[in-house]
Amino acid sequence: MARVYLGLGSNLGDRQEHIQQALQALQRQGCVLCAVSPLYETEPWGVTDQPRFINAACIVETNLAPRPLLILLKDIEREMGRVPTVRYGPRPIDLDILLYDELRLDTPDLTIPHPGMLNRASVLVPLADIAPDVRHPATGRTIAEHLADLGPTPDVAPYPPGLPAKS
Ligand code: AMP
Repeated sequence: MARVYLGLGSNLGDRQEHIQQALQALQRQGCVLCAVSPLYETEPWGVTDQPRFINAACIVETNLAPRPLLILLKDIEREMGRVPTVRYGPRPIDLDILLYDELRLDTPDLTIPHPGMLNRASVLVPLADIAPDVRHPATGRTIAEHLADLGPTPDVAPYPPGLPAKS
């Protein structure tokens, strides 16, 4: 089985519920859920004039190869009501493949590791909670090191608000 690190995000409707529903859908489809990060509320990236996201990361084990896994993620997004919209626009659920074992893949519709992950605090903060020592296959550096490179991350806050930040 492959060990896969996924990013989850929602900024429409009941955002927390959408994250939970996506995790349940992954398990229904045979993914073994190994870890789930805490939730964070984050400022939108790219298109900034839209509601804030709830973001999380999870680790799953799966028999699916990368492309079938991407198709599964897109199916779950579609079933949960996501209609194609502007890139980086609002969505009930967004599912990304961040890392897939040590794989490096660069095709027109699937790039692994996810090309945006190293400069997005909304991805690295939750991922560092569950995979701080995992190394990015292209840089050889750990997720915790990459997060430290970003410096302060004021746009990423534990959710619900008031929960203490993880030290
Ligand atoms: P998004 O707007 O985040 O759903 O991404 C749009 C497209 O990015 C998807 O339809 C995929 O074809 C493509 N894509 C490329 N690499 C990845 C990846 N690692 N994880 C998820 N989507 C990817």
